Amino acid sequence: MSSTIRSVECLQLRLPFDHGAPAPLFAGRPRTTLDSGLVRVELDNGLVGWGESYGAELDALSAVFRGRIAPLAIGRDAMDATLMASLERTLHNMGRSGPILHALSGVDIALWDLKAKMAGLPLHALLGGARRTRIPAYASLLQYYGDKALVQKNVDRALAAGFDQVKLHEKTLDAVAAARGAMGPDVPLMVDTNCAWTADQATEAVDAMAAFDLRWIEEPIWPPEDIDALQALRAQTGVATAVGENASSVHELSFIARAGGADFLQPSAIKSGGVTTLLRLSRECAGTDVHCAPQSAFFGPGLLATLHMLAAQEDEVHVERLFCDLGFTPYGETIPCIDGAFELTDAPGLGADPDPALLDSGFVRHIG
Ligand SMILES: [Mg+2]
Repeated sequence: MSSTIRSVECLQLRLPFDHGAPAPLFAGRPRTTLDSGLVRVELDNGLVGWGESYGAELDALSAVFRGRIAPLAIGRDAMDATLMASLERTLHNMGRSGPILHALSGVDIALWDLKAKMAGLPLHALLGGARRTRIPAYASLLQYYGDKALVQKNVDRALAAGFDQVKLHEKTLDAVAAARGAMGPDVPLMVDTNCAWTADQATEAVDAMAAFDLRWIEEPIWPPEDIDALQALRAQTGVATAVGENASSVHELSFIARAGGADFLQPSAIKSGGVTTLLRLSRECAGTDVHCAPQSAFFGPGLLATLHMLAAQEDEVHVERLFCDLGFTPYGETIPCIDGAFELTDAPGLGADPDPALLDSGFVRHIG
């Protein structure tokens, strides 16, 4: 059966969300939607694979797909094991990260979806086989800017919804204390500061937070590439570190893991090279002290790809699930998050395609 690529499209997905507070800032602007690129790869045989690309700037991403990715990929064999490497190499002098790598990440996920669909197997079967099909999730609360009442309220809501681990995006000791107070001593608590501090500031801040028993402190230091500072912070505070979502490539992530820069390595499927990157890093971390715990603050095919990788990985870690209500929850009917966990099926590929109702909704913009 022919597996020649007939078309490659990037659809702009903008999902309104409600986290029970005013819009948080993202990249300097109030954020009212969660954005990503839905990547659709269709073969001559009619089979369609779906991927997802990080979409901080969707127009830039769309331009990369229209001008570069689609012309290079159309006519190629989707089952050709050298396809992704050849795209990466051809585009390398346009940048080794940013929208180019985000676009390649989405294509990689779509190709794995197609590969598994062609084989009639769930993706996890191609990643070594499922060790589990129930993937527990942690509630990843968005930012409440130190508002203790909102932190407490949303910790309560997350626990009531069945989550058994919670992550905050907060920077203040009071907010961490409020969360720990609301959840009691036994629920694992993580704190993500999105690179809030210099190395000196981080030591004092994390030292104080250590009293609240953090499972990890995530991206505590600016710049996130300062691995030496992360190692020093861990040694000084005894708090485990998590980093990786802003790494520029699989190569940097691999270096972080080998250098002992983090206890929890957090590759993003939609930013750092798709399923291929997750699989490589998962295997590199196996048998070491580093847990491969992907970042997954997104809801499309990239989340499904992450779930399949976590199903196959020996090291059992929770998947990240942003704790908010969406204008439309992708896979809300097919692979829902119930009582704080996702349950994968044996359906081929990623296990579900995007709901046609989503594709026809105002949340998806089709471009060229
Ligand atoms: Mg993070």
